[in-house]
Amino acid sequence: MKLDFNKGLILAVDDQEADLLIVEHALSDYYTVVTTTSPAKALTIARDLTPDIIILDIEMPEMDGFALCKALQAIPTLSDTAYLFITSHSDISYEAKALAMGAADFISKPINLDICRLRVKSQMTIKQQASSLHEAYSVLHREKMHLSTILHSIGDAVIATDTKEHITYINPVAERLTGWSQKEAVGLGLTEVMVLRDASSGECMVNPLHVALEQKRCVAMALNAEIISRDGTRYRVQDIASPIMDVEGNHVIGGVIVFQDVTDAIAMTTKMTHLTNHDQLTGLPNRILLHDRMLQAIKNISHTDRMVTALLIDLDNFKYINDSVGHHVGDAIIQQVARRLEAVCDAYTTVSRIGGDEFVVLLSDCESMSYINTIASSVIETVNVPVVVEGEAHRLSVSMGVSIFPKDAQTPEELLRHADTAMYKVKSEGKNNFSFFADELSEDLKERVNIEKMLHRTLDDNALLVYFQPKYSLTDGGLTGMEALVRMKRGDGSVMSPYSFIPVAEESGLIKQLGKQVLDKSCQQAKAWLDAGTPVKVAVNIGASQFNEFGFTKTVADTLSKYNLSPEWLELEITESALIQNINSAKKAIMSLQRLGVSIALDDFGTGYSSLSYLRSFNFDVLKIDRSFIQDIDSDQQALSIVKAIVNLADSLKLEIVCEGIETHAQLLALKAMGCEQGQGFYFAKPQPADALKNAWKVHS
Ligand code: C2E
Ligand code: MG
Ligand code: MG
Repeated sequence: MKLDFNKGLILAVDDQEADLLIVEHALSDYYTVVTTTSPAKALTIARDLTPDIIILDIEMPEMDGFALCKALQAIPTLSDTAYLFITSHSDISYEAKALAMGAADFISKPINLDICRLRVKSQMTIKQQASSLHEAYSVLHREKMHLSTILHSIGDAVIATDTKEHITYINPVAERLTGWSQKEAVGLGLTEVMVLRDASSGECMVNPLHVALEQKRCVAMALNAEIISRDGTRYRVQDIASPIMDVEGNHVIGGVIVFQDVTDAIAMTTKMTHLTNHDQLTGLPNRILLHDRMLQAIKNISHTDRMVTALLIDLDNFKYINDSVGHHVGDAIIQQVARRLEAVCDAYTTVSRIGGDEFVVLLSDCESMSYINTIASSVIETVNVPVVVEGEAHRLSVSMGVSIFPKDAQTPEELLRHADTAMYKVKSEGKNNFSFFADELSEDLKERVNIEKMLHRTLDDNALLVYFQPKYSLTDGGLTGMEALVRMKRGDGSVMSPYSFIPVAEESGLIKQLGKQVLDKSCQQAKAWLDAGTPVKVAVNIGASQFNEFGFTKTVADTLSKYNLSPEWLELEITESALIQNINSAKKAIMSLQRLGVSIALDDFGTGYSSLSYLRSFNFDVLKIDRSFIQDIDSDQQALSIVKAIVNLADSLKLEIVCEGIETHAQLLALKAMGCEQGQGFYFAKPQPADALKNAWKVHS
């Protein structure tokens, strides 16, 4: 017989072969049926095959059904097997005994096929349901165990409650942070176990789970919360609480709060913030924090008539002290000075250390100059008291510069820079004193500051003026070109020379913007002359940093194409100082500009390095001999020889020559005699605005 256990296995035991045949007949279409007349064999078969159902005859000669049932029940693998008894007895006591033994049902003799089949079928169904139930239960159990392991192992604290905020679960981390064990906590109110306070005020906080349950939404804990454990330990925590909904998501069935101990993280952040904003040696705010406080102070008092004042304090000769007594004594002195500075200032004043022996006292809101005077004097006084380190007294003095917002400076950077300027003034005038930026500022410096402001304004308004000075052929007197020369208009309408503002533009970095605007206006004018039928090549002066700027060639190309101007109408004048910053890149820049089609002139030749190898290695188109040589040629033989030599040199290098600054007829004649090709100077025309140059096209002979 082929056994198919998937169908369900039935073992039937009866001493009557005929009964067994009936059972087999009734069931074998649906199940695998194994039969035996021998109880002993039945035990072996049952042990080997583990039947789902065993059908037992009660009366058997060898061993009755009850005894066999008992023996079968003793086999551990048969714990799930169901027993059906075949009985011819109508005696109720047999049935009671069978049920007591765990019988599931009875089949009475004579065996009716249908009844037998139905009884077995219902047993089989019960068994299968029981087995499914068992399986589902074990899956559920496994999942429960899994979840509970996760909650136990999780690094966060977890507390679950019912809707009345009574605790139903608390994991080990929550046990540690609250000080309550799961056993003690379950059933208690949430607020009893989880005591929350505001970390700064110490005031009680509403538990976010309370809000979560009330409002049926996730709620995060306010920053700054701390939990007070049962033994009084405080932990900074952050968390999130949420309601637990039923499977359908309709009803709240409880709540859960998950929180973390962030005590260490907060301590670390605080420490890091302190480190980045403070000087390690003195614990004073450093430059970064000072800058921030300055910004804040300026913002606060803007639009009021109050002042922000920076006192920049530099210890006199400190380097000498440091070198002679050693760094550790130097450090101790700095620390003592720091404490003394703090002592003369109030709580609203920032004392900061911004360098080795440099401190800044920031008065963030002052009303009067006399207050500033008082503080400055106290600083000097306190630092002048000898500092004692390791039993030895050290005398210190300070130089202090004072700069004030809004009078002297508009930004934190400017405040410091101007305080620094004032401080250097004190140093140069004998030290141990203080001075105000405005008072002590030299006229030169004031002028420089004014020019910078004016430049800013002019550039922003695109209001630079470009004058043009004509160049002429010394052989036929015809116009050969125009040099563009920048001018700036003062408030009073007078015009300022580039000698006054080009150096300021170079120093302040404004030269690039200036150069760009001049180039633009010059190309625009060249195009206008071209269109007017009076074409003339325009030469534009290029500052060193402008020339060396990345992308300069592109700026030139863009400007030309902006005005649809052919490059043959543009020349660039470069001085030697622009070339020596980086000879190789200068060579490349010149080449790429020439490739573009513009010509390059070397300006002010003779005033710089003027080396011959220079001239050879750069492929200039034009050489402009500086005005200083031309000035002297009619009186100074040496100047004349130099100019002659330059003219010859230029000739052999096939360079065009332009003589700058021709003022007199005598100079013109001398240069002509030398064979100079071109000249420029007041003799012909001064630089003027384009519309004043109508006569420039007239031949000068
Ligand atoms: P530079 O390029 O050598 O220009 C010639 C200077 O000599 C001009 O001075 C011009 O007015 C002056 N000059 C011309 N002929 C005579 C003369 O016969 N006698 C005297 N005494 N002076 C004469 P300016 O316009 O004051 O320009 C001074 C310098 O400023 C220029 O020297 C040039 O280096 C620079 N500069 C002018 N415009 C610009 C510009 O747009 N960008 C840059 N980077 N520099 C410029
Ligand atoms: Mg020039
Ligand atoms: Mg020049």
